[in-house]
Amino acid sequence: MHADHKRVIDKYPRPQNKNEVRSFLGMISYFRQYVPLFAKRAENISKLVREKEIFRWEQEQEDAFQDLKSTLLSPPILKYPDFRQPFFLATDASGTGIGAALLQEREGKLMPISFSSRTLTDTERRYSTTKREALAVVWALRNYRYLVLGYDVTILTDHQPLSALFRDTLPDGQLGRWAVLCQEYNPKIKYIQGKLNVLADNLSRIDLDDNNPRNKSLYSLDDELFVDEIALVQPAEGRTAHIRAYPKPDIWDSSELIKLQKGDPELRKIVREIAQHRDFFLEGEVLHKVVEVMRCGVTHKNITVVIPPTLRVKAIKLCHHTIDEGHCGVDRTYIKVKSRFHLVGISNVKAEVQEVVQSCEACMSANGRPPRPVPLLTYPLPSVPWESTSMDLLGPLPVT
Ligand SMILES: [Zn+2]
Repeated sequence: MHADHKRVIDKYPRPQNKNEVRSFLGMISYFRQYVPLFAKRAENISKLVREKEIFRWEQEQEDAFQDLKSTLLSPPILKYPDFRQPFFLATDASGTGIGAALLQEREGKLMPISFSSRTLTDTERRYSTTKREALAVVWALRNYRYLVLGYDVTILTDHQPLSALFRDTLPDGQLGRWAVLCQEYNPKIKYIQGKLNVLADNLSRIDLDDNNPRNKSLYSLDDELFVDEIALVQPAEGRTAHIRAYPKPDIWDSSELIKLQKGDPELRKIVREIAQHRDFFLEGEVLHKVVEVMRCGVTHKNITVVIPPTLRVKAIKLCHHTIDEGHCGVDRTYIKVKSRFHLVGISNVKAEVQEVVQSCEACMSANGRPPRPVPLLTYPLPSVPWESTSMDLLGPLPVT
């Protein structure tokens, strides 16, 4: 058995009362159809919740508890990720911890790919509920960055205010910064009833505190293998979507990118010897690089588009000014550049980003401030049909 799986089994809290028994059974029952002889195997535990039964935890309960937990962390319940399918990330926060379950639909049912949880620091425990729930989302996205970035991911939360948080105008302070971090993943947020969020809810209550409150644990089928699989996976629809998303086809002509990549001697050499460069791969004809990034003390692999020197400024501008996000500052532009592109032949990316951002004409004319929205105008009401007509112009539109 994988060492991490063993650990989560050790750490899952033994129910201390009837309520905790109900909570555990609620989680495990979700998968009952995948556990052979479920009712029989759960019997010794489920009888504890009967009204007349006194809560008494003995060896037979302990055995059933360990048995059921181990089913949760092995096939057929735990699945390998399928990059052609959308991901779902169920997150939850309790007063003491945050938990997440990465899920995908299999035969009409959401099945787990990986579980993770961590305890909250003393400071985090004093956060408001919304802030703890938001922290769970940011943390979960970062945890699974190497799996979900560039793919379709939906956050499942039982905390309704979160959906507004990531949809409306950005809030101030830390919540706002977190919302910006999340934008990179472009997640959808879906509210689900608390009782449906049993996985994440239970995970947020696991005490993994090994003298290190920030101790983070991931449990999935051979994490190391997943990371390799990302670089080796055959081009699938999901992956193509990643490349189509950045650069976006409406503002970037990928044939231009391919032509200029091929025109660069250094990149041409890499393409010729692609088999020897494990970090590089071709998707269609576009050269990509898998780069390692450290986040929260964990190394993640990130897929980036390789940018030849001739396209460098254009790539930075693309990150600085996008249709949906407007003109961002140096730091945010830099983060976006680093996460999407691998700029060839340059050592100080930040300085280059700074130069491009600071010389942006639109930013300069707005004097560093975003332009004020134009006030809405009213027209006099016509008295008869066709008394007046209006038209508007839109464009330029992308060539399809
Ligand atoms: Zn600008």
